[in-house]
Amino acid sequence: MGTAPGEFEIIRDYFASAAQGEGVVLGIGDDCALLQAPASGQLATSMDTLVAGRHFPEDADPAAIAARALRVNLSDLAAMNARPLWFTLALTLPRSDAQWLRQFADGLLQTAAQFGVSLVGGDTTAGPLSITLQVIGHTEMPLRRDGASPGDHVYISGPLGAAAAALPVILGEQRVDPETQRQAEAAYFFPEPQFALASAISELASSALDISDGLLADLGHICVSSGVSADVYLEQLAVAPLAQALAGKEALERAATGGDDYQLCFTVPQQQVAKLNKLDLEIFAIGILTEGDAGVRCWHNGNPWQVSSTGYKHF
Ligand code: ADP
Ligand code: MG
Repeated sequence: MGTAPGEFEIIRDYFASAAQGEGVVLGIGDDCALLQAPASGQLATSMDTLVAGRHFPEDADPAAIAARALRVNLSDLAAMNARPLWFTLALTLPRSDAQWLRQFADGLLQTAAQFGVSLVGGDTTAGPLSITLQVIGHTEMPLRRDGASPGDHVYISGPLGAAAAALPVILGEQRVDPETQRQAEAAYFFPEPQFALASAISELASSALDISDGLLADLGHICVSSGVSADVYLEQLAVAPLAQALAGKEALERAATGGDDYQLCFTVPQQQVAKLNKLDLEIFAIGILTEGDAGVRCWHNGNPWQVSSTGYKHF
């Protein structure tokens, strides 16, 4: 077994075998991939970089790193109500390590197969460990951030706070029992892109995004894009059981401001709410949009609620 494959062996042995799905006329190996776009609708594309030491610990399980990298990118497609088709991978590696690459590639290609998306190209370079993925999907009915209006109801697609509460465990700053450790890793490394929900609400919702930076920060993006404000009633927020277990009385704050859960936040006009309720989805109504540019105001049992932070900012 070779222990330090070169650039071309890395591409050939770990990534070129990727299954070639729908629309792939020519995959990995030439100067470009050739992709057949669907005849109608629009292509949706998004890119995310995960840097070791910032988005994941350098010594984390390579398969889990790969899964998270692809899942967070797929979440952007889901938030747009786009079906995943293809992705590319820019991989920067501190050293060529056959075992690390095998685990990373297995995790990546298994996740790709699970979501029906094909790896069609990339770039491989040496440097500090960093993973950039670009995904491309297709949508006939995009869900944008700029369609919301005053009076629309605000929803989240599931409980929040698990990934933010899990982070100290992932970073080794908080010691927990093995079962809680397993749940923390699942919450942090395996977020669930909300494809089914996005599709279900696509004809009813006026706006949507995925919660990557924290509910209040991300809802703030809808407010800015749509020119509205929001009142959020925090007692209606679903707090993840793992956040309760790990963060105790900080759990509500984690749910409101913590990132990395990748649930959807979306808005639905009043006249569509009855139809939405008929769908019997497991969603949570958490607030209402109003006029003006006051941003996101939070309430807890009728009292104004001050948050100490409003989500993750890179700079
Ligand atoms: P070029 O020199 O023409 O840019 P490369 O030698 O970088 O091409 O890559 C050769 C082929 O391998 C291309 O099809 C490229 O998309 C693919 N490739 C390179 N690195 C990766 C990677 N990490 N994952 C998937 N495909 C890759
Ligand atoms: Mg070339």
